[in-house]
Amino acid sequence: TQAPVNVTVTGAAGQIGYALLFRIASGQLLGPDTPVKLRLLEIPQAVKAAEGTAMELEDGAFPLLSGIDIFDDPKQAFEGANVALLVGARPRAKGMERGDLLEANGGIFKPQGEAINAGAASDIKVLVVGNPANTNALIAQAHAPDVPADRFTAMTRLDHNRALAQLSKKLGVPVTELKKVAIWGNHSATQYPSIAHAEVSGKPATEVITDQQWLAEDFIPTVAKRGAAIIEARGLSSAASAASAAIDHVHTWVNGTPEGDWTSAAVVSDGSYGVPEGLISSFPVTAANGEYKIVQGLEIDDFSRARIDASVNELAEERDAVKKLGLI
Ligand code: NDP
Repeated sequence: TQAPVNVTVTGAAGQIGYALLFRIASGQLLGPDTPVKLRLLEIPQAVKAAEGTAMELEDGAFPLLSGIDIFDDPKQAFEGANVALLVGARPRAKGMERGDLLEANGGIFKPQGEAINAGAASDIKVLVVGNPANTNALIAQAHAPDVPADRFTAMTRLDHNRALAQLSKKLGVPVTELKKVAIWGNHSATQYPSIAHAEVSGKPATEVITDQQWLAEDFIPTVAKRGAAIIEARGLSSAASAASAAIDHVHTWVNGTPEGDWTSAAVVSDGSYGVPEGLISSFPVTAANGEYKIVQGLEIDDFSRARIDASVNELAEERDAVKKLGLI
């Protein structure tokens, strides 16, 4: 049998962690033939709660779960990691300025980047979920100079899935009939969910959806503000859907995208579509041979251009702010 794959999860005692760990242990991250060893990282005051989650994982008697270790030291937690899911982050507190938020997260993602650089396995794949995810990923990546930059990604798969769900509902077709939807830019309210190249049952989505007003005033804001709507309804932020999207992101990264379709992920820009090189921005991407690649050669209409630029400008501002703080 295959040797276990080391999966490090930070923020393991949180709500997303609670949903995510069971999906990983059951084999949904890496498939039914791959045993996993979980390495959980928490801040010291949450280690006890992580131990509780670990007890429940044990009680799942998962055939593929070959061990669970819990750490409060990133150096240890990332030792030998093949996959790292960075979920724990400092949430925005009332009255907190963006600079304070970025600084607090710099204090988390800088040492984690260093620990990944020092001790992760050579095939390490990193997904940042904790917000502000794109810029947290940028900070971690900047402190891992020996790891290829393209191993650092941030999650916009939940936004992608939310876009599929809204279109499926509007058109009355199953999500399997929808292809080539894309999320561009930052995982924030400025993100641009696009159907410009999408297909509905093989037809251009722009021929099926001609209501520009619905796109601009309903679809886009509904996807971008879905997180707030869930908090309003559930009294807690989305967690299981975020965990599900994290599973999808890594599963696709490892197993590839189907022919004739793509997905969305925030990856290091190579300058494609005018997105400054080095920013970790969401693009339509394909995956093959364990690598995400930005889809090339798409025509960008004026409506899309303005929205992509607005979100990418926000990413550039976040990058400039963390640079000024000495975090990258
Ligand atoms: P959650 O598990 O609900 O969320 C964790 C992070 O995921 C937050 O930054 C959250 O951002 C982000 N996130 C990204 N996408 C989504 C989404 N669609 N829906 C909801 N959240 C999303 O937070 P908890 O407070 O329950 O748990 C966080 C845990 O992390 C705690 O146990 C804490 O101790 C731990 N932690 C660990 C660290 C470490 O390991 N070094 C460092 C810091 C914290 P947003 O806040 O914007 O919703």
